[in-house]
Amino acid sequence: MKYCRFLLNGSAHYGLVESVVGNNEDEIMRLLLQAPQASDGDVEGLPSRRMDRIPLAQASLLPPVQPSKIVCVGRNYREHAAELGHEVPQEPLLFFKPPSSLLPPGGTILRPKVSVRTDYEGELGVVIARRCHRLADSDAVRPYILGYTCVNDFTARDLQNKEPQWVRGKGFDTFCPVGPIVTDGIDPWAGVQVETRVNGDVRQSGNTRDFIFPLDVVIRYISQIMTLEPGDLIATGTPQGVGPVVAGDIIEVSIKGIGSLRNPVADQP
Ligand code: MG
Repeated sequence: MKYCRFLLNGSAHYGLVESVVGNNEDEIMRLLLQAPQASDGDVEGLPSRRMDRIPLAQASLLPPVQPSKIVCVGRNYREHAAELGHEVPQEPLLFFKPPSSLLPPGGTILRPKVSVRTDYEGELGVVIARRCHRLADSDAVRPYILGYTCVNDFTARDLQNKEPQWVRGKGFDTFCPVGPIVTDGIDPWAGVQVETRVNGDVRQSGNTRDFIFPLDVVIRYISQIMTLEPGDLIATGTPQGVGPVVAGDIIEVSIKGIGSLRNPVADQP
């Protein structure tokens, strides 16, 4: 299953993304699809009412998630911890990004005037399917996962480094590009390649096989602290190769099976 969220005639819709036979171009099947509900229960099953098709390339995509919270894992790849001069953490290191930081595919990331160094961080994102609280070691984690997407955990590195709380460094509006779609067709445990390009040059290329804390550990750990709701987003950490970008740069986070999350960078006006 692959789905997206998109804008049509001024209103937001969820849509299934399907490849049309005989045509390499993915198309959206517009559907009356229940959004993942943050309030109760499981995600609704897929609806049966199909509407008109729209080519994905022509769709005005929105962030494919509407999370009640965005939980991020810091330093989940050894080489990335080392490049920033940090020890490998003994337990998952968690922080939040606010839902107000979400940005759709193609949206412009705005560098705040108060920061002199802003970095891309390409990451695998996990979307929660079912309410999830205090999972036991014996509980399977996969039933709680709706699917996967690309995330750019955009960061004001100078602010992150000088403040013990990362609220400012990680939390500005536009600092969480997500998308373009959510899919359940990939397997991070088997290994998923996460690549980040800046202006077409590859800057990051990591594999989720190299997570310090695999997804089941991360999700169980988070669920001991807080209830994860359907639609919540987990950013699983960035591989080595982070670096600064400036106005005019274009960042592309790519994961095979999901596609590319492409966002231009500009200075806050
Ligand atoms: Mg990160």
